[in-house]
Amino acid sequence: MKQITLLGATGSIGIQTLDVIRLHPDHFSVYALAFGKNIEKAFPLIKEFEPEVVVVQDHTVKQQVEGEFPTIRVLQGTGGMIAASTAEKVDVLVNAVMGSVGLPATMAAIEARKLIAIANKETLVTAGHLVMEAARKYQVDLLPVDSEHSAIFQSLNGEKNESVERLILTASGGSFRDKTREDLVGVTVDDALNHPNWSMGAKITIDSASMMNKGLEVIEAHWLFDIPYEQIDVILHRESVIHSMVEYKDKSVIAQLGTPDMKVPIQYALTYPDRLDLSMTKRLNLEEIATLHFQPMDYERFRCLKLAYQAGKEGGSMTTVLNAANEQAVELFLKGEISFLDIETLIEQALERHQTIRKPDLDTILTIDQETRQQVRSYLK
Ligand code: NDP
Ligand code: MG
Repeated sequence: MKQITLLGATGSIGIQTLDVIRLHPDHFSVYALAFGKNIEKAFPLIKEFEPEVVVVQDHTVKQQVEGEFPTIRVLQGTGGMIAASTAEKVDVLVNAVMGSVGLPATMAAIEARKLIAIANKETLVTAGHLVMEAARKYQVDLLPVDSEHSAIFQSLNGEKNESVERLILTASGGSFRDKTREDLVGVTVDDALNHPNWSMGAKITIDSASMMNKGLEVIEAHWLFDIPYEQIDVILHRESVIHSMVEYKDKSVIAQLGTPDMKVPIQYALTYPDRLDLSMTKRLNLEEIATLHFQPMDYERFRCLKLAYQAGKEGGSMTTVLNAANEQAVELFLKGEISFLDIETLIEQALERHQTIRKPDLDTILTIDQETRQQVRSYLK
């Protein structure tokens, strides 16, 4: 029986993680649920899963939860996420919070030698060197939840890095894959939130439309698998059936396929190295799909992807700036304060103005993260 702390329980990945846990009551139980503010979604989950600890974003929400569940221990903020992630009883931390706010809890859980199922890619983009260095030091496994990285992890299947020619990440293309750059000028928030293949949280859906999601994933793959950027490629694959591939030196290519359903990589991260039944997921019917499509990426139309490669290759604090500028710009776009194409412009400006710091420590990263958000807000004025 694995005891789980789940950060981001009310989100798209959080809810699907609980779907998986619900299927296998003999294998998993919930120690702690952490969420931000969405009590409508959270209350029924707390009733059903009866966690020992609940973590929320601020004091107001804490009081609401305490009022409803007087016997449950309620914590708040980053300190609360850290306590819930490092508690003695916890076996696995599922980090499915949105944004770099998940970084301190990830670091603390590694130091407490917890197994980590990582959906929170911003953590690896903003501080990949620190996370991976700590994971090596404390000999902790970071199991990918992101579907592309789960596919690569499965396709690598323990092979040596020297045998790898390149990693090939597939991209569905997001909501705007058939639009020209001119078309992108007038797109709205609702247009961007309408993803063809996956139902996800708002921020990652915008990231998919801007192709920044793929950029973040390239950086995530670099850190998780210790592969240089020159050996990581992206290919457009509309059907999202091949979740990603590894090409080896002998030209052999190994891929992982399945219907697009996040419960598959979520469950694999929780059961690895075993596999359990996943009855609620549709089987892949290749005869019905019949044809799969592949196209090269257009790096001019999807400038965010190019910016991500540039920031990744520069390294150091540059990816912290990339991530923070993107989080801030997407928030402004979702609030209707900037246009879709302003997102990439604001990120580019932030990258241009930044002087790279080679090996930033955790405090430096958290400071740069806050400063970058502030700067992005001020360019706007
Ligand atoms: P959602 O926006 O659906 O959910 C985000 C979760 O994080 C919510 O539970 C939210 O709480 C919580 N949260 C946000 N800010 C804070 C905060 N400051 N303190 C505490 N909790 C907070 O996101 P997704 O589930 O889509 O994505 C989560 C992560 O997984 C992201 O890093 C994303 O890139 C990654 N991912 C997602 C995929 C998907 O299919 N959705 C696929 C692959 C990766 P509340 O709403 O209650 O405020
Ligand atoms: Mg992905």
